[in-house]
Amino acid sequence: MSEVQQSSPPRILIVEDDVEMLELLQNILALVRCQVHIAHSGEEALTFLQREAAAGREVDLILLDIMMPEMDGYEMIARVKADPALRNTSIIMTTALNSVSDKTLGLGLGADDYITKPFDPRELLARIDAVMRIRRSEQALRRRNRELAALIEINRMVTSSLDLDEVLEATMRGIREILQVEAGSLVLLDEETGRLVFRKTLSPEQGWVTGRTIRPGEGIVGYVVQSGEPKLVNNVERDPHFLAEVDEETGFTSRAILCVPLTIRNRVIGAIEVINKLDGAFTEQDLELLQAMAASVAVAVDNANLYSELADFAKELERSQAQLVQAEKMAAIGRLAASIAHEINNPLQAIHNSLHLSLREGLEDDKRLQYLSMAQAEVQRLIEIVQRMLDFYRPSRGGAVPTDINSIVENVLTLAHKRLQYGGVRVLTHLAPDLPPVPVVPDQITQVFLNIVINAIEAMPSGGDLRLETLLSGDGEWVLTSFQDTGQGMSPEQITNLFEPFYTTKPTGTGLGLAISYGIIERHGGAIEVSSRPGQGATFVVKLPVRPALT
Ligand code: ADP
Ligand code: MG
Repeated sequence: MSEVQQSSPPRILIVEDDVEMLELLQNILALVRCQVHIAHSGEEALTFLQREAAAGREVDLILLDIMMPEMDGYEMIARVKADPALRNTSIIMTTALNSVSDKTLGLGLGADDYITKPFDPRELLARIDAVMRIRRSEQALRRRNRELAALIEINRMVTSSLDLDEVLEATMRGIREILQVEAGSLVLLDEETGRLVFRKTLSPEQGWVTGRTIRPGEGIVGYVVQSGEPKLVNNVERDPHFLAEVDEETGFTSRAILCVPLTIRNRVIGAIEVINKLDGAFTEQDLELLQAMAASVAVAVDNANLYSELADFAKELERSQAQLVQAEKMAAIGRLAASIAHEINNPLQAIHNSLHLSLREGLEDDKRLQYLSMAQAEVQRLIEIVQRMLDFYRPSRGGAVPTDINSIVENVLTLAHKRLQYGGVRVLTHLAPDLPPVPVVPDQITQVFLNIVINAIEAMPSGGDLRLETLLSGDGEWVLTSFQDTGQGMSPEQITNLFEPFYTTKPTGTGLGLAISYGIIERHGGAIEVSSRPGQGATFVVKLPVRPALT
């Protein structure tokens, strides 16, 4: 890697109280590329180091004299190593002490090397070089670690979200963490228009670019999307794909660009672009990092897109289900239509007669009033019948409310009254008097019960008995409504198909009544149980939980 060549000259601090020695060291260091600072005591050195660290300027190496008055070199080493902001500074001891214990003491405290005075300048330079080499690879390692940690974090962030905007935000945060650049943006291909849309920028100041679109093939980003190849350009003027160095609107100048495609299942869905690295040129390593990031971002973008498609589909499904429920409701009304015509015709006849009588000449006023009020009573009845039908027929709004199940049974019997009568069905009811209210959507349960009642009527073409019962389960958890008919019954095979959509044995049946009923009862946290044998009638039991279960 070009890490070493690229770096700025090492910053070296000489800590030395002896003026002659100081001069000698300075003269030797003047021979090589480095930046030299001087301190005459440990205190002065520490103050300098701390000030530099606070300003974000790192000193690479300390050439440290051990024999100094007040703070000696050992204490200085200990103080540097104890300070988190200074701890990574490399130290070479310069010492006249030549005993093994003196040298090992300093190394033990954290110094990197030592040199004994007097020394050959070549040896000093060789040792500095060696320490700097180690230092540089340590720095590279630390940096690599930071990048990897950031990469792992990005991966975690982007893959833990199914929200596209969150994914893109996390991506931008990640880039800011890994790469020091002036600007950056993420573009996604718009499937419908075929254009590339700038979706996110690295900093809010670059927000002006958001929403802009370009053609695939246009500029460096367009080229990357079209070719599916990453691009590292450190000198934009020399790149044939580059469009304009300076943005006309903002005056932003691009010098260097690094751009990688976002690819999923061999399809390019967009690109990430970063512009103008702050410290030097873009490297192969920057490219690798951005590519690693792009790989997880592409997966996350894809997931978010699939998820939103799925959510749309679920919404669509919900809508068509609601439509189906409504259609089946209307079909149920349709099946009652003939009898409802009678239901309405009878009061109409009575109204007609009453009005006719009231219009007779020479009628006494109180007699006329009597006929008119008879007509009014019938009109009232008609209004009630129509209202009941409308209540049922209207698509249900609102959620579950505590409801008396017996009143729903009665409502259903009223709606089906004439149909039962014409079908020769005798209704025997046994309704528990003290049922607790059950949390249900009333017209949905009405729909379920009506379906079961109409099925029972249709299973008894030449009449029969319909036994209707409500009761509270022994544990008080369920309200059971049972519908027992004396119709043709069902085979076990028929029973298994009963709740399948479009399963019907009737020439004009929809086969949706029970399928929809099943869904409704399930959403209420309840169940429908069936028992039947051919020729032996059928029993349907609807169980509804007393405690709310509707989600
Ligand atoms: P549809 O009434 O339109 O046929 P359903 O889903 O309401 O649709 O019923 C499906 C089938 O279940 C009916 O066609 C019939 O064969 C059978 N079935 C339902 N209720 C009864 C019953 N009480 N007795 C006998 N068969 C029944
Ligand atoms: Mg039916």
